[in-house]
Amino acid sequence: MTVHVEPHAVEPDELTCQELVELVTDYLEEVLPPAVLARFEAHLLECDDCPMYIDQLRTTICLVGRLTESDVTPESRSILLDHFRVWKQSRD
Ligand SMILES: [Zn+2]
Repeated sequence: MTVHVEPHAVEPDELTCQELVELVTDYLEEVLPPAVLARFEAHLLECDDCPMYIDQLRTTICLVGRLTESDVTPESRSILLDHFRVWKQSRD
């Protein structure tokens, strides 16, 4: 029997890409709790897509200005998730 290892196999307490996206504004604001930050950075080390996504997001933030709490609405989170999904699809 061949063991097939998914490139993005997810351990029980590892973040998924979607969870990472939901935390990314807190990450960029440097307000993640240390335990969450450790999982976040562990995901960045083993994911090919998220580090590039965060670079892209940092660039966007540079262009539009610093994210503020009032910017982090459910709508803006869903826009980020849509953006991320489209962006990932375009890379496949
Ligand atoms: Zn990822």
